[in-house]
Amino acid sequence: MTEAIYFDNNATTRIADEVREAMAPYLDRLYGNPHSMHTFGELAGRAVNTAREQVAHLLGCRPEEIIFTSCGTESNNTAILSALETRPDKDHIVTTRVEHPAVGGLCRKLSEQGLAGKRWRLTELPVDGEGMLSLPDVGNAIDGATAAVSVMWANNETGVVFPVERIGGMCRDKGVLFHTDAVQAVGKIPVNLSELPIDMLSLSGHKLHAPKGIGALYVRGGVRFSPLLIGGHQERNRRGGTEAVPNIVALGKAAELAAGRMEDERTRVRAMRDRLERELLARCPDARVNGHRESRLPNTANISFEYVEGESILLMLDAHGICASSGSACTSGSLEPSHVMRAMGVPYTAAHGSLRMSLSVYNTEAEVDRVIEVLPPIIRRLRDISPFGRRAPAERT
Ligand SMILES: *Cc1c(COP(=O)(O)O)cnc(C)c1O
Repeated sequence: MTEAIYFDNNATTRIADEVREAMAPYLDRLYGNPHSMHTFGELAGRAVNTAREQVAHLLGCRPEEIIFTSCGTESNNTAILSALETRPDKDHIVTTRVEHPAVGGLCRKLSEQGLAGKRWRLTELPVDGEGMLSLPDVGNAIDGATAAVSVMWANNETGVVFPVERIGGMCRDKGVLFHTDAVQAVGKIPVNLSELPIDMLSLSGHKLHAPKGIGALYVRGGVRFSPLLIGGHQERNRRGGTEAVPNIVALGKAAELAAGRMEDERTRVRAMRDRLERELLARCPDARVNGHRESRLPNTANISFEYVEGESILLMLDAHGICASSGSACTSGSLEPSHVMRAMGVPYTAAHGSLRMSLSVYNTEAEVDRVIEVLPPIIRRLRDISPFGRRAPAERT
């Protein structure tokens, strides 16, 4: 097989060469524990400090406001559980129907099963046909018992970008903590926490060209916090566990690289994504783009092809060495349309044929050409053999 065309960057990304080089010494020679009382350990400690500065610089916050975690999921769990634990008099959570399971699954568990004998009321805000939230809905959902609002910055399936600045502003006015899952936003679009009313923010290394198994949580200075992992004094008593020094160094380097690549993402990657969508829609009848046309990440295309199964498209693309995704990477395996497509009210026949292609700065125009050449005949073939494929839309029931 020739080298794969990797259009699945919202699922995970390749490790940047610069990142691998930066972390390598800490996998090898510089294996000290950052808290040891010797120079060897201190070298590791210094590398962790540098990485914290690099991440803080990308986000526009102070280094002390960054806690390193094991992944985006841990960051989300830590943020929400901390908000609830530090607000024992409150019993209500506001989130959306389109969150990643790392937020949605936790919130549903807290409302259905509860934790430590307490159950929280949960409001999951709807989205419209373009996957967009209504701001008045956010305001109306918040009441005197609301402990936290958790709304993702950008959706992993559609790339839709939520107005987190406005949402955070409403939360601040009402004195409610605001957390955002920014795993898909960080590195793709500018984030400047010094100017935003955001109390906590989650990010994940492997979505921005660092390895899997490293994440970070921003906790704004002054926000009450309760750790998830109880142990040693690492991370200023906010996360027990010996620091994953090589991964932390990698995340720092990836953050530094991302800052320098954002312009490429905003221009070249966006232009490739737009061309991909335009050409595919021109060549495939009964196809539509899912998600808000303007308020969207530059790298994500989510297209529904009527009368075909997304899984079948994936298998046939895979045979050509093209990697994409259908629905959410976490839910494929089941044939139900993803919770995001359902929340958007995408018709069942279209939701089934949804294909997500997510690009990165490593993709090329030649790869886009190849997908534009390969995909339309695949759709035609699948429609020819589909039991629905030959019927006119009006005849379907
Ligand atoms: C990938 C992802 C996560 C989970 O991050 P991990 O590091 O894989 O745990 C959370 N939220 C969103 C929006 C994601 O895309």
